[in-house]
Amino acid sequence: MASRRNPPVFDGHNDTLLRVFPPSRDTRGRDFFERSESGHLDLPRAWEGGFGGGFFAVFVPNPRTGSEPSQAPTTGTLPQPLELPYARSVAFRLAAGLFKLERDSGGSLKVVRTAGELTHCLDTGVLAAVLHFEGAEAIDPELDALEVFYQAGLRSLGLVWSRPNAFAEGVPFRFPSSPDTGPGLTDRGRALVRACNELGIAVDLSHLNERGFWDVAEVSTAPLVATHSNAHALCPTPRNLTDRQLDAIRDSDGMVGLNFSVSFLREDGGRDADTPIETMVRHLEYLAERVGIERVGLGSDFDGATIPREIGDVTGLPRLLEALRARGYGEEDLRRIAHGNWVRVLGKTWCTP
Ligand SMILES: [Zn+2]
Repeated sequence: MASRRNPPVFDGHNDTLLRVFPPSRDTRGRDFFERSESGHLDLPRAWEGGFGGGFFAVFVPNPRTGSEPSQAPTTGTLPQPLELPYARSVAFRLAAGLFKLERDSGGSLKVVRTAGELTHCLDTGVLAAVLHFEGAEAIDPELDALEVFYQAGLRSLGLVWSRPNAFAEGVPFRFPSSPDTGPGLTDRGRALVRACNELGIAVDLSHLNERGFWDVAEVSTAPLVATHSNAHALCPTPRNLTDRQLDAIRDSDGMVGLNFSVSFLREDGGRDADTPIETMVRHLEYLAERVGIERVGLGSDFDGATIPREIGDVTGLPRLLEALRARGYGEEDLRRIAHGNWVRVLGKTWCTP
């Protein structure tokens, strides 16, 4: 069967920087420009899969256990908070890593700072990278680092990963559980949200607990965004969004990126790669019914999670788009889901056009 030309995918979350620039210098990183058999994302595979770009996360692993997104403890308790100097040194390493990739790419990858740059990259086949922080541990209470990282290119920030910090508290990896697992934002957390609004940095709600979510909904003037979360009604992990949360996202004209992690897709919350693409389609459909087709996109969690074997890695994206076509989604809907909705919401959130 001749495959139709797919719209480029712009994706809400990957942990590739951590694989390419591991914070522990004894671990060798992958070469982003060479095709690898391990992990999910590199430039040759991005081209093959029609991956036009996405949010590149700066995630700071636990210094002692080296725990990474995919190896998160499932004990139900929250990991320890991080020290600012350590978190900042890792954030520098990963952010610098992204800028080095841009410099070494010979024009194939660009760190985008405006909606115009993002659109231009998607139109011309340049991989568009949004610098994103998954957790604000590298930001000092005075928010000086926020100013500096913003000037460098930071355009999206999750207040927390799944642990507490000075600003808010994330949800533990517990199953099943409501996302209402702890206290809301601190005063500093509220100040951070306001500062992000003012600068034009997206505030990511994925990993935040429910009280924190409602605090952001109250304080923030920007569309509410969860870059990589699914429907709690279909998979009751605290990492997913309840119907009430989805309604708030819809009302703010924000959006949700579909997470490919099988633990957040499967009814049983299990980490089993033998999870059919239909499970992803079911979540996407549920999300679209709740928030509207203009407010759903993808948020794969490439290089940070166990994903369905049928997808495998970034080269499996066309199989997801094909499954959506088979389910009756038209080309305009596919374009919105693939990248159009992200472009619109980021355009509304970033101050510079
Ligand atoms: Zn995550």
